[in-house]
Amino acid sequence: MDCLMSIAEQYNLKVVEDAAQGVSSYYNGQALGSIGHLGTYSFHETKNYISGEGGALCINDPELIERAEIIRDKGTNRQKFYRGEVDKYTWVDHGSSYVPSEIVSAFLYGQLEMIEGISKRRKEIFQNYQQALNPLAEKGYLQIPFTPEHCQSNYHMFYILLPDGKTRDELMFYLKDQEITAVFHYVPLHSSPMGKKVSRTHGSMEVTDDISSRLLRLPFYYEITDAQQDYIQKHIKGFLTKRFKNNPNALAEASRSTGK
Ligand SMILES: *Cc1c(COP(=O)(O)O)cnc(C)c1O
Repeated sequence: MDCLMSIAEQYNLKVVEDAAQGVSSYYNGQALGSIGHLGTYSFHETKNYISGEGGALCINDPELIERAEIIRDKGTNRQKFYRGEVDKYTWVDHGSSYVPSEIVSAFLYGQLEMIEGISKRRKEIFQNYQQALNPLAEKGYLQIPFTPEHCQSNYHMFYILLPDGKTRDELMFYLKDQEITAVFHYVPLHSSPMGKKVSRTHGSMEVTDDISSRLLRLPFYYEITDAQQDYIQKHIKGFLTKRFKNNPNALAEASRSTGK
């Protein structure tokens, strides 16, 4: 973000920070969502703090507040009317109806009141995976995430990186047979149909392509139990040990194919 913000400053650009998953995470002591000129949070059901659907716009440049209020309110200046700044409200710009309902907001408020408890539990879940899978990481069977010193995580997800794409795909199907839903995320934007249409890359995106082919997200949600995590860890360990332990060549080959 430091790098992006300095490029934006140099060329007089505005940065919209997609902090959809980043509520309550920090980078160099600064909350995610507060770094770009605008920041966006998601309260979609898959995130840490949820209202089913919906999100928030953080406006970090005061000059952008007025237009955001208008766009949120169907393109009208109704907020100005409520504040008594105009004697009637009317249509002044583009817009849509982005205001969440009272009921949805109350549901979200309950989650935000529990933000510390939710974060604490998510940290435990994360550390549980970390501890259980670290021995496999030390053997080179997979890589696990780490949080740099200057960052504070909200423990949104736990992913593993397998030595190659083939192992990732086979592990994913194996886990599915054990009724464990592990998914890969995301299809890199530059290879999506819309990404191809509206953007171009500077040079190759081989690192992105490589990581996305090897990444697997493990089940991660507030109510997951220790027993469920044990079950998941046991099956990952069983699968990878069988694949690599008596077959060091397979591991060397997998690693070679990704240049590691
Ligand atoms: C979830 C997510 C979104 C979409 O959020 P919505 O609330 O569904 O609009 C966008 N970007 C990232 C990085 C996300 O994780």
